[in-house]
Amino acid sequence: MPAKTGQQYIQRLKQANNNVYIHGERVEDVTEHPVFKNVVQSMAKLYDLQYEKPDKMLYTSPTTGDKVSKTFMVPTTVDELVERREAIMEWQSFTKGLMGRSPDYLNADVMAMGQASEFYAEGDPMFAENAKNYAAFSRENDISLTHTLIHPQVNRAKIQAEQKDANVALHVVEKNDDGVIVDGVRLLATQGAITDEILVFPSTVKKSGELDDPYSLAFALPNNTPGLKYLSRESFVYRDNPYDHPLSHQFEEGDTIVAFDHVLVPWDRIFVLENSSICNRAFGETNAVVHMTHQVVAKNIAKTEFLLGVVLTLMDSIGIDGFQHVKDKGTEIMLTLETMKSHLFRAENNAKLDKWGMMTPDFAALDAARNWFPRVYPRMAEIIRILGASGMMGIPTEADFAHEEIGPILHRAMQGKNVEGYERVQIFRLAWDLTMSAFGSRQTHYEYYFFGDPIKMGMAYFDKYDKETYKARVREFLNSQNMNKLQI
Ligand SMILES: Cc1cc2nc3c(=O)[nH]c(=O)nc-3n(C[C@H](O)[C@H](O)[C@H](O)COP(=O)(O)OP(=O)(O)OC[C@H]3O[C@@H](n4cnc5c(N)ncnc54)[C@H](O)[C@@H]3O)c2cc1C
Repeated sequence: MPAKTGQQYIQRLKQANNNVYIHGERVEDVTEHPVFKNVVQSMAKLYDLQYEKPDKMLYTSPTTGDKVSKTFMVPTTVDELVERREAIMEWQSFTKGLMGRSPDYLNADVMAMGQASEFYAEGDPMFAENAKNYAAFSRENDISLTHTLIHPQVNRAKIQAEQKDANVALHVVEKNDDGVIVDGVRLLATQGAITDEILVFPSTVKKSGELDDPYSLAFALPNNTPGLKYLSRESFVYRDNPYDHPLSHQFEEGDTIVAFDHVLVPWDRIFVLENSSICNRAFGETNAVVHMTHQVVAKNIAKTEFLLGVVLTLMDSIGIDGFQHVKDKGTEIMLTLETMKSHLFRAENNAKLDKWGMMTPDFAALDAARNWFPRVYPRMAEIIRILGASGMMGIPTEADFAHEEIGPILHRAMQGKNVEGYERVQIFRLAWDLTMSAFGSRQTHYEYYFFGDPIKMGMAYFDKYDKETYKARVREFLNSQNMNKLQI
């Protein structure tokens, strides 16, 4: 089947009737539910874009000859790598990078899993076959995916096997002819309510040992598999009004707790089974992490471009763009944007074919970018908040402006340098929704934890960085000073 359209995406969700719960109720139809219907429309728009810009977004499937999404394409040259990223950019320019788990993110993972499928043979040759088949299945059916990597936050001072109630976390219960029965809970599947299938993988930020083998799994399942439940957090869509909530009303993708109640995972959907060692190495050795980071850096560029546009518009609207510290804060965001673009350029231009035949970006550039962005994103959000000042709170709603009595007062009171009150408040509501509403503060929290705990990521980064080269240079310099050793 060729790449899906928005309508097909919606139809599939309706038919699947996934087990989604929110605000204490089971959702009958996510495509019609007030909390999910707008984000479903945004996802549908992404799929429709594939047909609005087929040259940019589609390519010919290597197995069926159908036109399928380029976000599944295995790049074999630098040009193809760039083409792949340009397809990603089409989607990101629509979402402004605000849907962190738009389908291109996990499509990159699935693409690498399929191409490097032999890696999974270490557990069982069947698992390699499964990985290859699953990647082809996802590509040919344009499957939208959510994913879950982490165990519940019970007692982080102990490994999973040593928890008081170790079986809260997803684990293997039984193996039979049909597959493996799993039970327990996983966190935190963004888009769990609005996708076709789930990928269960380990988090490689937290390395597991052998005692955690029962919890060390990788598999994929349709979201409507019996026993699988998605428990959505409270929605951050306050009201369905694009003036009042310009971003949250359309890009609130949701986060879910995933509960598995004795769920059967068929043998042909398993990629890793009870093997912590393979789990620890899966993202790294298949280069999935590199291709996912490539997508993420592209997303982050789109997001930073949008942030910059918002802050500049805000500055103009109240005439603060001439002040020295205001310019300096704008510069901080500009420098972030240009630096991220440079990381991407270096990553693509130093790309090399890996042992699986994938043209793989230079990870040093991407790894620096993905470790750095969570540190600067909160600062960019803070800059918008600082420059917006009282304007971030002086945000009457569209209904207030429409009111016969107070509307005219607000038009005048809220006016800006070159704009009427209605227009200025629209700019400030956008800035607020981007950074300070529940949706906006989630964006900051999300970017901080995007790839895992940045503290542990930073420690791992430090540990594996080539430090010897730089220490040797200093030793060489000190030795070159020809100082006589002190005689003690
Ligand atoms: C908005 C949002 C969306 C998300 N979406 C997804 C998703 O779609 N799929 C998915 O799989 N995951 C998702 N996540 C989860 C994300 O991967 C985790 O938040 C991240 O890996 C951190 O793990 P944790 O939340 O379990 O934090 P914890 O590991 O519980 O850490 C909590 C705090 O304790 C500290 N800490 C914990 N252990 C140690 C230690 N050993 N040494 C030192 N300090 C420690 C940490 O530094 C941190 O400050 C999402 C998270 C957020 C916030």
